[in-house]
Amino acid sequence: MCAAWLQSRVVRRLGAWSALLAAVLLGVRLLVVQGFVRPVRVVSGSMAPALLGPHFQIACRDCGYPVLIDAAQADKDEPVVCSNCGYAKNDLSQAALHTGERVLIDRGAFGLRRPRRFQTVAFIEPHEPRRLVVKRIVGLPGERVEIRGGDLFVNDRLARKSWEELREMAVVVHDDRFRPGNAGLPSRWRSESGRWTESAAGYHYSGDLQPFTTAPTRSQFTWLTYHHWRCSPLPGLRTKESPVLDDYGYNLGPSRTLNPVTDVLLQCHVQTEGEGCLAVSLHDGRQTWEVRVWPQRGRAVVVRAGEEVAAGAFARQDQGESFLLEVALCDRQVLAAINERPLVRHAYEVAPAPRRPTSTPIALGALGLAVEVREILVARDVFHLPPPGRGKWSLDQPLDDAHYVVLGDNAPIAQDSRVWATPALPRNALLGPVFRWPGVQPMRGGSVLVGGKLQIEQ
Ligand SMILES: [Zn+2]
Repeated sequence: MCAAWLQSRVVRRLGAWSALLAAVLLGVRLLVVQGFVRPVRVVSGSMAPALLGPHFQIACRDCGYPVLIDAAQADKDEPVVCSNCGYAKNDLSQAALHTGERVLIDRGAFGLRRPRRFQTVAFIEPHEPRRLVVKRIVGLPGERVEIRGGDLFVNDRLARKSWEELREMAVVVHDDRFRPGNAGLPSRWRSESGRWTESAAGYHYSGDLQPFTTAPTRSQFTWLTYHHWRCSPLPGLRTKESPVLDDYGYNLGPSRTLNPVTDVLLQCHVQTEGEGCLAVSLHDGRQTWEVRVWPQRGRAVVVRAGEEVAAGAFARQDQGESFLLEVALCDRQVLAAINERPLVRHAYEVAPAPRRPTSTPIALGALGLAVEVREILVARDVFHLPPPGRGKWSLDQPLDDAHYVVLGDNAPIAQDSRVWATPALPRNALLGPVFRWPGVQPMRGGSVLVGGKLQIEQ
């Protein structure tokens, strides 16, 4: 008994010392975090939408979508087009100016761990040592970096993003929570058979009598299809169907040639009843992929041309339980996640077929179950651009030791390695990774996921 008492006393003391040590280490760590005491704010739009500089925000007068506009490019006398519904007469003159987002810089992190690809970092501007800048690392020491077809290649291999990286960089192209009040406009999500019905928050499919099967054909599903609009201010073009393009409503800069983007992401909340299957169909411009999910069985598969090419498992969903479903095409991968947990990831090579992007890249299919789908969000991946007037961009030679390539997410306006006289950024200019204050927020319509230049508030 005496030994047991002594043991519990030692454990208690050890616990107290551990807590004190953890508190001291946390205190030391916070001391090196820049922006924790003195606010550091983003002052340009070159990392939008991940990080916003000073911007205007208005609610679209037709759909209510929170439209964000880079203050540096805005002319308050010019009407603003809603990137969600295409309404072209939004008035910016009364809009309030929002300051750039507050961020933290972890100045101790790179002493513990090397910088990694797709990490958002702050550094000292090479040509202006008194300014801090934030961009995303895309090239590491020893690597040769190239931008081709909107994608990033490292040593001639496609650099593929993870789910977290895609969520952070994705640009929202349509948020179904915000529907235009104009009754004469066509729906963005359409049921060709009429068996999906529209509700206030989403779409409903009341089920069917199809027998349960683990390998259905595509034609057995009942489909609800997304139609992308051009959202152009030109008369008659507002609802014109178009592939998803790399335009970005945050920018009001000079016009440029837009590029079709086939890397798209679907995010929605789902409730199902029944033993059947829910499918998400995605078209990459050359071929169609399906992610089929059996919520009651906790199983998912990736299907191409009727063949299963990958499978994943997840916690079975109870009847009527709501879950977050995410499916994406990104960097020649099919990705799926349930409740933000990665479910399946299938990488592939380009099919030998001509590229024909479509205005209907995404569809939801139901078979043998009742489904309620709510808050459907469609987003696209970042489309990397070469410098203006050039078809592609690459480093002349591999990066030296301790040098990096950095890009801004907002490619049309970012000043980064693509345009610098010396594209490589030396390691000793890096200060540390950047975090949003009070933390990274999930991607949601109009809002953002995580630069531009930073400044310290006086
Ligand atoms: Zn709108």
